[in-house]
Amino acid sequence: MHKSPYHSWAEPYKIKMVELLKMTSPQQRKKALKEAGYNTFLLRSEDVYIDLLTDSGTSAMSDRQWAGMMLGDEAYAGSRNFYHLEEVVKDVYGYKYLVPTHQGRGAENIISKILIKKGDIIPGNMYFTTTRLHQELAGGKFEDIIIDEAHDPENEFPFKGNVDLDKLDKLVKKYGASKIPYISIATSVNMAGGQPISIANLKALRAYTKKHGIRIIHDMTRVAENAHFIQQREAGYSKMPIRSIVKLICSLTDGATMSAKKDALVNIGGFLAINEWDVFEEARNMVVVYEGLHTYGGLAGRDMEAMAIGILESVNDDHIHARVGQVVYLGEKMISFGIPIVKPIGGHGIFVDAKKFLPHIPQDQFPAQTLAAAVYLDSGVRTMERGVVSAGRKANGENYFPKLELVRFTIPRRVYTQAHMDVIAESTARVFNKRQKIKGLKMVYEPKYLRFFQARFEEI
Ligand SMILES: *Cc1c(COP(=O)(O)O)cnc(C)c1O
Repeated sequence: MHKSPYHSWAEPYKIKMVELLKMTSPQQRKKALKEAGYNTFLLRSEDVYIDLLTDSGTSAMSDRQWAGMMLGDEAYAGSRNFYHLEEVVKDVYGYKYLVPTHQGRGAENIISKILIKKGDIIPGNMYFTTTRLHQELAGGKFEDIIIDEAHDPENEFPFKGNVDLDKLDKLVKKYGASKIPYISIATSVNMAGGQPISIANLKALRAYTKKHGIRIIHDMTRVAENAHFIQQREAGYSKMPIRSIVKLICSLTDGATMSAKKDALVNIGGFLAINEWDVFEEARNMVVVYEGLHTYGGLAGRDMEAMAIGILESVNDDHIHARVGQVVYLGEKMISFGIPIVKPIGGHGIFVDAKKFLPHIPQDQFPAQTLAAAVYLDSGVRTMERGVVSAGRKANGENYFPKLELVRFTIPRRVYTQAHMDVIAESTARVFNKRQKIKGLKMVYEPKYLRFFQARFEEI
């Protein structure tokens, strides 16, 4: 009999406190959805039963993290919690210098402004919304160098986050290495469905960039989940602890931006970490302008303490096994119902293929947006669009039409139970069974930046 590596992923914790949820009727949901312009970002959280909008800032903190909150040293300068965080970042990730920021995009803003000049090219293993926007606002142009497999939801290649070195080499030949300030490498590539990059690929990339004098800046938002897949899938790492794999990944890069709201199990926080003194000095200077003094970067002392403890918990093998195990449980259940999802199942959520789910809805009628609305209407489960709405417009005003048109069912860490996973899969199956009746949407309001957050729609 086939035994999934996750056959026993039971949680390595027990529940000490619960948050009560409001149940809603179909009429209430219909009204709420209309008022939200069919955009799940605009729903009130009170109207949501199971919230899978994002895994960002939605984790349950541990009793130790909450205890750490009480140890907050709210001094304006030189907070003890900053020094604790600095020590943990150096120890767990190995980067030399730390600049705390209020969240990931704060770090992205600073590193983009420092390293990118107008006309520069920033290759990366698939775009991320805020990351690319900060690169563009700094005058750079993002170029996708992820392997082709990543754009195919059916392809079961185990490391769909890998870089295609030929694509990179073409860019270097075309523009010259001096036009490429860094390569932007995400671990557990969010937009590809939480797909990992392998150590072998990172090592090859490191060798290539050394030769050409190009930095690698690591988007390490979900580095522990990536490390888990390396442990599961890459030859030679099955016995290496998550913590060691995480450190190995970081050692192959020159610096990192972190949204600690994901892997690191806090509700707010992030940082920029870097090995070069000059870049650090400039970042420490700039953080004062955009975030706050360099020993708090927009965070309270207590937030930095919770982050330091969360980082240590995030690289625990049992934690990450249960975390990804729950995601895989949901994905396998959806597959058993015939629902088309991105494979292999990623680390932080299930990505339903809306093009396959709703083949009768053309991409300019927003199939993923439509599907997210339909699932909410069915059960109060809130998901989000990762397709043409999220992709936004090019500098010339044309829509990006991404190959992947997905609905993301993101699982918050340590928050929901197996019974919740069953409810989610069953609701999606109900929508799947009546999919022919579902009609597309038209956009009636479009904000200029990151439109997926605030766009409004109406039924066609
Ligand atoms: C969330 C996220 C960011 C941005 O971080 P925020 O904390 O939301 O500002 C950057 N990169 C990736 C891959 C993310 O998932």
